[in-house]
Amino acid sequence: MSEVPRHHEKWPTVRSAPAGYARAVGVFDLLDTGGHEDVTWGHDQRSGLRALVAVHSTALGPALGGVRMRPYPDEHAALVDVLRLARGMTYKAAAAGLDLGGGKAVILGTPAGPEREAQLRAFGRLVDSLGGRYVTAEDVGTSQADMDLIRTETSHVTGVSEHLGGSGDPSPATALGVLHAIASVAEALWGGSSLEGRHVVVLGVGKVGSALVGHLTAAGAKVSVADIDPARVQAMVEHHGVAPLAVADALTQSCDVLAPCALGAVFDATTIPRLGATAVCGSANNQLAEALDAVRLADAGVLYAPDYVVSSGGIINIAQELSPGGYDRDRATTAVGAVGHTTARVLADAAQRGITPLEAADQLAESRLDAASSRRRETQPS
Ligand code: NAD
Repeated sequence: MSEVPRHHEKWPTVRSAPAGYARAVGVFDLLDTGGHEDVTWGHDQRSGLRALVAVHSTALGPALGGVRMRPYPDEHAALVDVLRLARGMTYKAAAAGLDLGGGKAVILGTPAGPEREAQLRAFGRLVDSLGGRYVTAEDVGTSQADMDLIRTETSHVTGVSEHLGGSGDPSPATALGVLHAIASVAEALWGGSSLEGRHVVVLGVGKVGSALVGHLTAAGAKVSVADIDPARVQAMVEHHGVAPLAVADALTQSCDVLAPCALGAVFDATTIPRLGATAVCGSANNQLAEALDAVRLADAGVLYAPDYVVSSGGIINIAQELSPGGYDRDRATTAVGAVGHTTARVLADAAQRGITPLEAADQLAESRLDAASSRRRETQPS
């Protein structure tokens, strides 16, 4: 395998990328529009690695975000995706109160076997070359074992196995955070955080959803579950005595809380008028097809707890790996309680000011980012 340059040497950035990388919208236009700091194009001829690392903001700290491995129709699609995801991470970390910025990486393609290992190692060296501005983690298409492999090339990786000093799978922490958020929704709607007797529909019972079901049943909630995988539904029915629900009925089912824990873009102009839930509070990323759907949900009388606040337990847990003294599970579990506090704060702010919870969450994140940027300007020589 060819040697990948280390520590800020010659990784080609967009500034030196061929003009052909930018198509309908130029790369600089994309960076300007999103307010990104930069994007790095990683290429390793020997392994075939083609990767992009986007840093949206380091105003609050190093840019943390997972590395996604998937085929893209073309490089422009990969660029747009990585920029969008990196920006989302900035807001997620900022709203969660973490001293972390937002970044994301994508590896184009899904190699297998030795080629996959070689690409992940080359990616690790790419991350290392950024000197800690970007810290990577697991995401769609990558696993904890992949993070362990990347760890052999760089220390700027989180979510590695516990025997390597990492925090392991973030899903249990994410699920615990969703539970705290649902309790805050209950407090806002019904004046008490108890979930006893509340009907919660969990859509998607994978890693997060299944752990959430365990918490909800323990809290005395009446739970219904839906998933495209019937075996997962059956496992929940057998282990927790919950009610099975067809995926097609999950959105219209009358219930107190709908917890989307599968894919994004669940809510749009078509689905929102048909919703049977009083509130929406789940872990799925990018639940709204477009930002206007937050207004549509409010108009439909559905309380929407912003997805990036609700699902922040995982990043809060992972951030503990970067704390002085390293990862401590008890401390991390306590820290995940912040998801409930932030949800309560956002819902209260929205109600008081007559704005949507999404606007309240965005403004909470932006106020932290603006304050950090001002501090940075004050300390920088003019
Ligand atoms: P997962 O892949 O383990 O589980 C997803 C589940 O959804 C699977 O059981 C799958 O069969 C089901 N599913 C897929 N498409 C569906 C559909 N159309 N209808 C119903 N069910 C469907 O994923 P996960 O780690 O549990 O994550 C769930 C969601 O939460 C994702 O959107 C993820 O991005 C988000 N999230 C996860 C974490 C984490 O720590 N794992 C953190 C933040 C956000």
